[in-house]
Amino acid sequence: MANDRRTLALIAHDGKKADLVAFALYNREKLARYHIIATATTGRLLREKVGLEVEVCLSGPLGGDVQIAARVASGEVHAVFFLVDPLDKHPHDPDIQAVQRVCNVHNVPLATNLATANLIISADAV
Ligand code: PGA
Repeated sequence: MANDRRTLALIAHDGKKADLVAFALYNREKLARYHIIATATTGRLLREKVGLEVEVCLSGPLGGDVQIAARVASGEVHAVFFLVDPLDKHPHDPDIQAVQRVCNVHNVPLATNLATANLIISADAV
């Protein structure tokens, strides 16, 4: 459950999961300060390979992105790091657009690549 910590949503497409794990290992201490929510496969990797506590939603293609979009719309999420793979096709593309759209509607910081995620985390900007 969410608590007093700020909430960060982490999602990575399959082609970007290794990058997200490397990013999370490097920034483990900082990330551990947040309540983290993630789509299922991404969240499991963060638990198993990084040792972070993660609230896991459904897998992205099964509705996890939509669950996270709803949490953003409700004001429960303070930033989203969604590492998208622009070189792959995604059956749940409308759901990916939904996450990006609600972040823009509600002015929630959204990183879609590692360079931006690095900037946000190193600036403690969440
Ligand atoms: P996953 O979902 O973490 O369950 O793989 C991510 C996505 O593709 O949106």
